[in-house]
Amino acid sequence: MALVCLWALGSGAVGVKHGSVKTLVDSCGFFPQISPDGQWLLYSPTEATSLMLKNLATGAVTTVASVGYPGFDAIFGPDGKVYYVTQERKKHNLVYRTAHCYDPATGADQVVLKPQHGRVQAIPATRGVVVNGERQYYRSGKQVGSWVYTRGDVLYLVDEAGGTRSLQPVQESNGYLWASLSPDGTKVMFEAASKGVFVCDLNGQVIAELGEFLMPCWYNNEYVIAMSNAGNIRTNGSRIWLLSLDGETMKPISDREERAVQPMVCNGKIVYTLLYSGQVKQMELDIPAPAMQPVAQGKEKGKAEKVKNPLSKNDVPRVFINPGHGGHDSDDRHVPTWVIGAQDTIHYYESNSNLTKGLALVEILKNKGYETAISRKTNYTEDDLDLFEIVSLAANSGADIFFSIHSNATGIEKRINFPLGLYRGWDGKPAVDGSLELSDAVMKQAIKNTLAVWTHKERSRGDWSFYDWGYKVGLGVLRFNKLPGFLSEGSFHDYLPERERLLNDSYCWLEAWTQSLGMDEYFGRKGKFKNSVVAGTVRWEDLKRHDEDKRVFDEDELLPINGALLRLYNGRGALSRVYTTDKMDNGVFVFTNLQPDKYKLELYYGDEQLYLTKKVKVKKGKTSFINLKLKSTQKPKK
Ligand SMILES: [Zn+2]
Repeated sequence: MALVCLWALGSGAVGVKHGSVKTLVDSCGFFPQISPDGQWLLYSPTEATSLMLKNLATGAVTTVASVGYPGFDAIFGPDGKVYYVTQERKKHNLVYRTAHCYDPATGADQVVLKPQHGRVQAIPATRGVVVNGERQYYRSGKQVGSWVYTRGDVLYLVDEAGGTRSLQPVQESNGYLWASLSPDGTKVMFEAASKGVFVCDLNGQVIAELGEFLMPCWYNNEYVIAMSNAGNIRTNGSRIWLLSLDGETMKPISDREERAVQPMVCNGKIVYTLLYSGQVKQMELDIPAPAMQPVAQGKEKGKAEKVKNPLSKNDVPRVFINPGHGGHDSDDRHVPTWVIGAQDTIHYYESNSNLTKGLALVEILKNKGYETAISRKTNYTEDDLDLFEIVSLAANSGADIFFSIHSNATGIEKRINFPLGLYRGWDGKPAVDGSLELSDAVMKQAIKNTLAVWTHKERSRGDWSFYDWGYKVGLGVLRFNKLPGFLSEGSFHDYLPERERLLNDSYCWLEAWTQSLGMDEYFGRKGKFKNSVVAGTVRWEDLKRHDEDKRVFDEDELLPINGALLRLYNGRGALSRVYTTDKMDNGVFVFTNLQPDKYKLELYYGDEQLYLTKKVKVKKGKTSFINLKLKSTQKPKK
């Protein structure tokens, strides 16, 4: 790709019109949108807390809305009106979204879709606007033309007559984003998360592959504007690009130092924002752009209609899961295991345990009647999505919460271990309502896991207070996210015994289970699910780990027992479950999906000899934690 770039840069066939670059807003102008007549600029401050409108002729700025996080995804219709969506947490913390239409000419604001659960998104159509709700949708006129939208890894194309076709032009994508029809209505452009920007025909046949870019928009029928895909650490390399469908042009049009993001094009005017300051710029190119077909301000009223076959039938909680960064490289953390040391070939990778927890959480939540969406299902370099892709996939899913799964590392020799929830905002003052409540609920359950040795209490912190990275910088993956949510640092994987536990998939499952319990509490679903869990560890009572300077605490000083066999019998004496502890020095065992009962747990070691018997009472929906110890001198039972 680098060679192509150089060549394209040198060609100089097309470029920025001399003297056309202007600053439209000095700061905090995220997700800028320019009106079809070029007179108005719509934008949002960093936190989506308000939606601002600037009259570019007079410089006057109006607040369109400042309740319900109206920022980030508002659009102009071809009628010049502003369509935006607000959200509110209703009963049991489900997020309901309301669509509005604001007329810049008169200042009149109208609700066009009443509050509904799930996704509500304003989408431009060729001759109007469609607000795409899952239960009810709104059309700005009888004939809005054709339009496209995405959900998961399906691209939906709605034609003039209202017929819907579902397309899957790219295989194995983590989801489609930013779909749009070309000005002439003959092609569809979209980004396939982790794969890049594509253009397909109306039958879903890919006709152009434009490369790894984000937020593409049509300049005309041949040229496209997009932003760089900078991966999961968006610290540099953010630029605005000009691309041509024939592959001849692939050229950055913004300065490298500017770190430009969020481009949008209308009638030949390109607007974009600078990542850190939020300064909004506008530029024009020296190639012709088609004039947008003006839509007559007809008498015809817009209409809300019922969706005939909604994909989701019930108002159940929907969770967007982001199992951390992927791919064993970039930001991943490899840590050699304790006993094997530097010669270790198995290796602990945070990306592995994050994914194991994420996939487990999907299964657990599904069994509990939740709906889920997840940002990756595998662990390759290409699963390392750009932060914009993750946040956009979450927004696209219409979820009630955003949940990012990680584990922590101190990066120094201070060995500590506790669950930490990081939400966007200041300590005690989350940027999005509900985030602190959710973090507290999940962290409260995490600390109850007594398989781990915790050195400190659990805590929830605001990332702006926690990190010393600059005013309101915080974690990239929480930026531009307006769902209640947080990032869970479930434990510290550089606390060595904890890392050995994280190598055990059942232990990762157990963390996901405790996360689900926190979510049950947040969504008022406690007690709805009656299956139970028994989990514990097996350690030698009198054998200690080699702990020269590694610092371990309490029970973690004791050597875990590898290859111990645990048998669980139900109240009728029938064998219910069997578990053998692994060879990774964690002694972990977990029994899942148990019916409430009085169980008997037996511990076997060596040549299948019985050493210990324990009664375990399992209550409905509860988790019983049992840590077992065995003396090395103990004789087996007869
Ligand atoms: Zn991480």
